[in-house]
This record gives sequence, C-alpha cells and structure tokens, in this order.
Amino acid sequence: MVADIRDAVGDTMAITMRVSLDEHIGNLGFSNAGVREFVELNGDLPDLWDLAQGAWEDCSGPSRFKEEAAQEVLVCGIRALSSKPVAGVGRFTSPDVMARMIRKGVLDFIGCARPSMADPFIPKKIDEGRVEDIRECIGCNICITGDMTMSISRCTQNPTFMEEWRKGWHPEKMNAKGDSSTVLIVGSGPTGPEAARAVPAGL
Ligand code: SF4
Repeated sequence: MVADIRDAVGDTMAITMRVSLDEHIGNLGFSNAGVREFVELNGDLPDLWDLAQGAWEDCSGPSRFKEEAAQEVLVCGIRALSSKPVAGVGRFTSPDVMARMIRKGVLDFIGCARPSMADPFIPKKIDEGRVEDIRECIGCNICITGDMTMSISRCTQNPTFMEEWRKGWHPEKMNAKGDSSTVLIVGSGPTGPEAARAVPAGL
C-alpha cells in the first residue's frame, strides 16, 4: 500500500507510516521482533516511521500504571534499521526524558499529544531553556475520559484546554476578572487553585 501511495504521489508529499511496536495478540499480529524485521526489509519505503505500541491501553497508559517512556525498550535500536527518521510516543511528560531520547539516538521526533495539551508551548519553552515555565502533563488521562465518553475533553493541568476557540481562552494569558470583587472558582482539582492564582491578575 505504501509503495502504491508512493507511486501515486511521487515526491509531492511526505509519507509517514505508523506501525505498532507490538500488537500483543500473539501469532495473530506483529511481535516486536517481527516489527524490527519489517522495518529492516522496508526501511526506506516511508519518509518517516511513526512507532506506537499495541492498543490504546498499551500505548497511552496513565502514570499510575505506566512508567514514563515505557515503550523505550520496544523502540530502542529500530532507528538503526532505516535511513529514515523515527518518531515515537509513550507518555514523554518530562522534557528531560524527551531530550534524553533524542540525545541517545533512540528517536528523531517526540510524539507528545498529551504534553502539548497540558502546555501547547512546550517545544518553544524547551527551545528557549524555559523549563521551569513548562506546565507538565502528569499522565492522569482525564483528557482521555472525554474521548471515551464522547464529551468535551478537559486537562487537569491546563484549565483553558478546549476553550481556546469557544471562549477565547489562552493557556498563557488568562483573562483578568471583571469589576466584580468576588470570583467563583468551580472545581478544586489542580486547575481550580491555578485559576484562583492566575485569573484575578490576568496572568
Ligand atoms: S488531562 Fe492533561 S495532565 Fe492529564 S494526561 Fe491529559 S494532558 Fe496530561
């Protein structure tokens, strides 16, 4: 299929290919050894390898049950099997772990959907050395519950998440409160105190 896509689009666009690092379904699916063989045989076919692991529960487990960078052992060494860059995921919540994965040559790109929801400016802050300013994802998966219940997603660390367009909220510039002398904060999770701290001053 990827070869056919390549024939159809030529070099007008890049082609990425997502492969499961281990499907965890025994002989019915890819094992990690099988994936390595596959990448070695087809190393140059896509422009980018995008590697994740198994089903949703394997790939995106919460911090309570999964270590950060839990897929490192499965992805380590695959980059050497292809001349094309490799992107990986696995709850890279800490910028130090992200940098370690790049420096060690395990990955070329870090896939970090959840950390980007907790702090959309994480790449910029890493680039500018503003690590202390990063609002780190804690891997609680509250955002996923929205996905699973078909309701609006929320982030424990970023109270503005999902209201950027509808309410015009900005994750770094909270609206200052109006003339009223009181503010009602609904919710006592981490975002409640964060809102209480930041909203009156418009930080
Ligand atoms: S809710 Fe926010 S902090 Fe929790 S896992 Fe999702 S992105 Fe990370």
